[in-house]
Amino acid sequence: MPDIAPSSQPEGDLRYRRVILKLSGESLAESGKRGISDNELLAIAKQIKSAHESGCQIAIVNGGGNILRGASFSGANASVQEATAHYMGMLATVINSLALQDALDSIGLQTRVMSALPVDRVAEQFIRRRAIRHLEKGRVIILSGGIGSPFVTTDTAAAQRALEIEADVILKATRVDGVYSDDPEKNPHAVLYEQLSYNEVIQKKLRVMDATAIALCNEHRKPILVFNFKQDGNIVRAVRGESVGTWIGDPQDTQTNHR
Ligand code: UDP
Repeated sequence: MPDIAPSSQPEGDLRYRRVILKLSGESLAESGKRGISDNELLAIAKQIKSAHESGCQIAIVNGGGNILRGASFSGANASVQEATAHYMGMLATVINSLALQDALDSIGLQTRVMSALPVDRVAEQFIRRRAIRHLEKGRVIILSGGIGSPFVTTDTAAAQRALEIEADVILKATRVDGVYSDDPEKNPHAVLYEQLSYNEVIQKKLRVMDATAIALCNEHRKPILVFNFKQDGNIVRAVRGESVGTWIGDPQDTQTNHR
């Protein structure tokens, strides 16, 4: 018998028993601003608490874009090598994780920060079995440092960790209602998709997650739910499998699994 139980059937009205919640760095900042806002931190922490209280195991993968993204930073700073800039971006995710951890702790959640980059004073090393144990013990885990290697984004980390910890779904939190045919902030005729297959995302060149992440999810049939976290209660709705956002997955699963 394996000593690590795979994610089993959820109970009650809970649709997903174990999720990866992908939070971009910008979700911790005020709209249009950089850095970290206490209001945004607490607002998202409260939503995470409600989702956790519904019985869902939550692993958060943090971004760092509110502080620094490697590709754009190295583009603007020629003296910094691109690989170095990506490591700086990974460190930015650690900064965000520490802030989020304290916000979650302050409202009574048990948390652990784990990092793919060694930062032993502030975070545990990411060890798959240990991460699963934390979840089983009711802790919210915050997975920082991406995958610990440059030239990818935390979207890839979200897909990678979802596979490793056998999360049922990747909940990709965004500021818009889901995936649109075009940028809804620029094109008033942009259409919101209710569901998409991985191939549609690739063929239509929809900017959902980076290409590596989509390829991993496609290969392993890991569903992604893109939804608007700014609407209060949406994280709980997402873990319950209520109809929020855009569901991306295997078309075979679409009818039975989402709607
Ligand atoms: N990054 C990296 N490897 C990883 C994850 C992240 O090099 O495994 C770097 C990359 O430069 C990225 C930055 O960290 O741009 C911050 O992450 P991301 O852009 O995904 O943040 P988000 O857009 O989600 O806020």
